[in-house]
Amino acid sequence: MTYVITNPCVGVKDGSCVDVCPVDCIHPAPGEPEFEQAEQLYINPDECIDCGACEPACPVSAIFEESAVPAEWQNFIKINADYYRNK
Ligand code: SF4
Ligand code: SF4
Repeated sequence: MTYVITNPCVGVKDGSCVDVCPVDCIHPAPGEPEFEQAEQLYINPDECIDCGACEPACPVSAIFEESAVPAEWQNFIKINADYYRNK
């Protein structure tokens, strides 16, 4: 399983989740080359250890455990994974 960043992050990107993630699996982080262009941040499902620290840190409640992603944002599970597909 993994945690997933969904629609409310779009345009916010404040980076609070990056600051609390113990395994640095949320990108692009503020300061990284792709950050300015990115619509939102993404969690790498292969690196996330399911610790849950990011969920309460998000000011707009954009982060959900994979099994708890709201129906209307199910597509974000693939959107997060696809960001890392060719990296
Ligand atoms: S659940 Fe933990 S490991 Fe996964 S993205 Fe959030 S803070 Fe990082
Ligand atoms: S804390 Fe929430 S709004 Fe901020 S970058 Fe992370 S997911 Fe996006």
